[in-house]
Amino acid sequence: MTELDSVGFPWPDGYRAASAFTFDVDAESCVLAHDPSAADRMSLMGHQSYGPRVGVPRLLRLLARQEVRATFFVPGFTADCYPEVVKSIVDHGHEIAHHGYLHEPMRGISAEREAEYLDRGLDALDRAAGVRPVGYRAPWWETNWHTPRLLAERGFSYDSSLLDDDVPYRVETTVPGSPSLVEIPVDWALDDWEQYAFYPGWTGSGVIESPRKVLEMWWCEARARHAENGCFVLTNHPFLSGRPAKAHALEELIEQVKDLDGMWVTTLREIAEHAEQVCGPGRVHQRPELPQR
Ligand code: ZN
Repeated sequence: MTELDSVGFPWPDGYRAASAFTFDVDAESCVLAHDPSAADRMSLMGHQSYGPRVGVPRLLRLLARQEVRATFFVPGFTADCYPEVVKSIVDHGHEIAHHGYLHEPMRGISAEREAEYLDRGLDALDRAAGVRPVGYRAPWWETNWHTPRLLAERGFSYDSSLLDDDVPYRVETTVPGSPSLVEIPVDWALDDWEQYAFYPGWTGSGVIESPRKVLEMWWCEARARHAENGCFVLTNHPFLSGRPAKAHALEELIEQVKDLDGMWVTTLREIAEHAEQVCGPGRVHQRPELPQR
C-alpha cells in the first residue's frame, strides 16, 4: 500500500503504530439510564444481559486464543449485577476501566452531579473485584468541560472519550499538583453500536450491518492508522459483538491487525503510560465563545 503522511508519534522502540481492543460492558445500564420503565421489558433486558452472560465469556475465549489483552469499560451497575463477570475479566489478565455508574447521560450536568456518578462507579468496581481503575470513558462519549478536572482529582491517568485527534495527547486539567491526564481519542467509525445496534422501540436505524462489511471498514481504518503511525482504538459492546458471527469477524480483524508490521496491540492503560512519558505540555481545551448578537 502507499505510504501515507506520518503523524510522527513516538511509539516505543520497534513499534510504528498502536492498537487497543476495548469493550464497553453496558448491559442493562445504558437502557435503564434513559428509561427506568424499560426494566419491565423482559426481552429487552435479556437482549442486554446477553452481553455479560454470553458475550463476555465468548470474547474472553477469543482474546485468550489470540493472546491479546484488552480494556473493558464497566459501568458500576453492571459490576453490582454481575460481579463474577468482572472478576473473570480480571482473572483473564485484562484491564477494567470506569464507564459511569448507570451509564448516565452526561450532557449538561453539573460538576457535582458528575462527581457523584464517578464516585459511585468507583465504589462499585471496588466492591465487585477490588479494582481501582486508572482509565475512564464517558457514557456515550459525552464529556463536559469540567470532566478532565474531575478525573484528575480522582487520580485517573487517562480518558478515552474525545474525538479530536488520531493519537494520544496530554490534557491540561487545571488541577495543581495532580498527575497529568492523557487522552486516547476515539472515533464513531470504530464503534460497533453504529453498525449493529437495533432494538424495536429503543435504538438503531433498523439496519444490522453484515459483519463482513464491518470487518472491511475497520480493516481500512486499521491499515490507514498503521501507515500514519496512528492509534487504532476499537470500541465493541459484548451484547452486540459478543454474538457469534460478529465475534468471528472481530477475531479475524484481530488476527489481521496483529500481523501488521510493528503494530503494538495492548491495553489503553499501557498506551497511556507510554504517552505520559513522551507527550509534551498539556493541551488546553476551551469552550467556544459564542459571537455577540
Ligand atoms: Zn457505554
